[in-house]
Amino acid sequence: MVKKYSGFNLFVNSLSYNENWQKIWRSPQPKRSYDIVVVGGGGHGLATAYYLAKNHGMRNIAVVEKGYLGGGNTGRNTTIIRSNYLWDEAAQLYELSLKLWEGLSQELNYNVMFSQRGVLNLGHTLQDMRDIERRVNANRLNGIDGEVVAPKRIKEIAPLINISSSCRYPILGASWQPRGGTARHDAVAWGYARAADALGVDIIQQTEVTDIRIENGRVLGAETSKGFIQTPKLACVVAGHSGPVAALAGLRLPVESRPLQALVSEPLKPCLDTVVMSNAVHGYVSQSDKGDLVIGAGVDGYNGFGQRGSFHIIEHTLQAICELFPAFSRVRMNRQWGGVVDVCPDACPIISKTSVDGLYFNCGWGTGGFKATPGSGYVFADTVANDRPHRLAAAFDIERFNTGALIDEHGAAGVAH
Ligand SMILES: Cc1cc2nc3c(=O)[nH]c(=O)nc-3n(C[C@H](O)[C@H](O)[C@H](O)COP(=O)(O)OP(=O)(O)OC[C@H]3O[C@@H](n4cnc5c(N)ncnc54)[C@H](O)[C@@H]3O)c2cc1C
Repeated sequence: MVKKYSGFNLFVNSLSYNENWQKIWRSPQPKRSYDIVVVGGGGHGLATAYYLAKNHGMRNIAVVEKGYLGGGNTGRNTTIIRSNYLWDEAAQLYELSLKLWEGLSQELNYNVMFSQRGVLNLGHTLQDMRDIERRVNANRLNGIDGEVVAPKRIKEIAPLINISSSCRYPILGASWQPRGGTARHDAVAWGYARAADALGVDIIQQTEVTDIRIENGRVLGAETSKGFIQTPKLACVVAGHSGPVAALAGLRLPVESRPLQALVSEPLKPCLDTVVMSNAVHGYVSQSDKGDLVIGAGVDGYNGFGQRGSFHIIEHTLQAICELFPAFSRVRMNRQWGGVVDVCPDACPIISKTSVDGLYFNCGWGTGGFKATPGSGYVFADTVANDRPHRLAAAFDIERFNTGALIDEHGAAGVAH
């Protein structure tokens, strides 16, 4: 029977810690064997499990997470969503994702607070503007919304922005994707977890994969901190930990793990209802529904697994934000944190089978994978279920690092996230 909550009940329950709260997914002990084990309970892993169950009718699936759901980059990111990547392969994958975002709250029956408030990518030099024009034209050829906007229009969209021509890097224009925006990161993990659980997926938290058992070039299963789990298919979606997890299978991936930081300010009255990103001054900002400014920039310049970063990056990021929004110079910052992002040389993901039968990797999303969560889960589930790349995942096969067919979004889109 569904419990009814009156206002009084809510008050009483708020004092009982979480004792009486309804659980939104089960917490089963691991079974001895599954048809598929997804390693990593971030948004991508949970989405993969959901689409495996929903689209491919598979039920005997586990998601094994070493910490808590969304405790990795899913719960640490600044939630920018857009699909305006330059190259066809990337643009089509991110656009699939954006389309899935547009119906995700209904699909999961869970409010992921997707807000299409639009994304501005600013240009500060003539070369920036040429790149922006090229990218917007390419996007439109791919059926993706976008326009090149002048400073006057940027000021209409974000009235507090500084469009003075006398600042260090004056704003010359921007790309504007109105369908871009933000979503609530935790809700995405929880929504996928609840929906996957309802389809029978076992979500197993506080359980680390410590080894991968392989025999005659085939996966036999995973050693975990709760014992051995047998499976013919192991789908690894562990973001910044992809290198070490691949090493358990004797593989070396072309990814580097870097710290990436974010900050939030004290809450302010609504003052910015879009996302503003600048690669030249190197910072980006949006305002959350709570009112805090959500701020970030680029990765720290070294490899590491500490979920923190160096102070000079914070300083550099805030310089950029104050240059774009002088009014924010008096805002106090509330919190700062870091995540570990898995960066590929061409700034594009790896969605791929490997040289070990039954072992799959979905990683390398670097600084920009949150926006891809639904699309990534969708195409990876298809790849794992059918043991061949999904049409939109084929270009992201690990083989591209042997053939040289890289998809260079680093230099091309010229923007992190
Ligand atoms: C500060 C910051 C800002 C960002 N901003 C944006 C943004 O604005 N827009 C955007 O699109 N992207 C952004 N990103 C990138 C985005 O967060 C990631 O690409 C995305 O969330 C990756 O999701 P995931 O599910 O693959 O990884 P994660 O959420 O990190 O999940 C991987 C999970 O694997 C688990 N795991 C690792 N090893 C093991 C093991 N051995 N056994 C079991 N479990 C294991 C981890 O505990 C973790 O929970 C940002 C990232 C950071 C850090």
